[in-house]
Amino acid sequence: MGRIAYVNGLYVPHSEAAVHIEDRGYQFGDGVYEVLAVYRGQLIDEQGHIDRLNRSLTELEMDWPVKPRVFSVLMREVVRRNRLDEGIIYIQVTRGVAPREHTFPEGVAPALVMTTTAKKIGQLIGGKPTQVITMPDERWARPDIKTVCLLPNCIARQRAKEKGCYEAWQVDRNGFITEGGMSNAWIVNADGELVTRDINENAILNGITRIAVIELAREAGIKLVERAFSVEEAKSAREAFVTSTTSFVKPVVKIDDTAIGDGKPGPLSQKLGILISERLEAAVSGGK
Ligand code: PMP
Repeated sequence: MGRIAYVNGLYVPHSEAAVHIEDRGYQFGDGVYEVLAVYRGQLIDEQGHIDRLNRSLTELEMDWPVKPRVFSVLMREVVRRNRLDEGIIYIQVTRGVAPREHTFPEGVAPALVMTTTAKKIGQLIGGKPTQVITMPDERWARPDIKTVCLLPNCIARQRAKEKGCYEAWQVDRNGFITEGGMSNAWIVNADGELVTRDINENAILNGITRIAVIELAREAGIKLVERAFSVEEAKSAREAFVTSTTSFVKPVVKIDDTAIGDGKPGPLSQKLGILISERLEAAVSGGK
């Protein structure tokens, strides 16, 4: 059975799925998206993703393409039609199709696309240790909104790939790390505190995995601070890791040319990896 995509009210074979050339997502990057993990056929952290999508849409003065309740039904139907057991569902909402003009069109319905990709996400938990580079954060001033304008993120991850690294930790003008091209950045500093950038200044995307890890750390009594940390502090950290829907908790063992800790995944990163994995199992066994 081939993959099925949902495109503006229709379920179509993935290979034939297309949007109009005047879709504002295509012409202006005028759209937002979400990526949810699907595990044992179930949507993970659905409400968190719906809330974040709602925030992105509100910030950009875009309407929901369908009512949130219908949206949930559509996501399930796409998962069902693709017989997706493990993987991701990608959702994109753009301001719709209109003659090319910068200002927002009136009376135009937002466009909605959903696709799935099969992926063994369970195996990604506690994934292989990874390395990151640092580079200037060249994105616009609202990376807290999950827009499809991902060119700076693509460049960042391309630079990382060229150096054999998984991620690029982007650095603001004051020398503080914001986040990766597709993940949030974390360290365990010299004092044993878990540190991740706060969301107050809208300098990062509030990752759904970030929110889960904060909750897990608090429950486990781990000392956690949400604040900016510098490249220097990160390089002298005991541990480092990244979080995202597709990487869960991924240990970082090298930043640029500096080995972190003893160059192996640290105990706290490993512990949080286990906790996030237990949380995932609990979610699909009706525990959450
Ligand atoms: N930051 C950026 C820039 C991202 O693209 C992502 C992945 N969507 C994240 C952080 C992590 O967010 P989440 O945990 O919701 O996947």
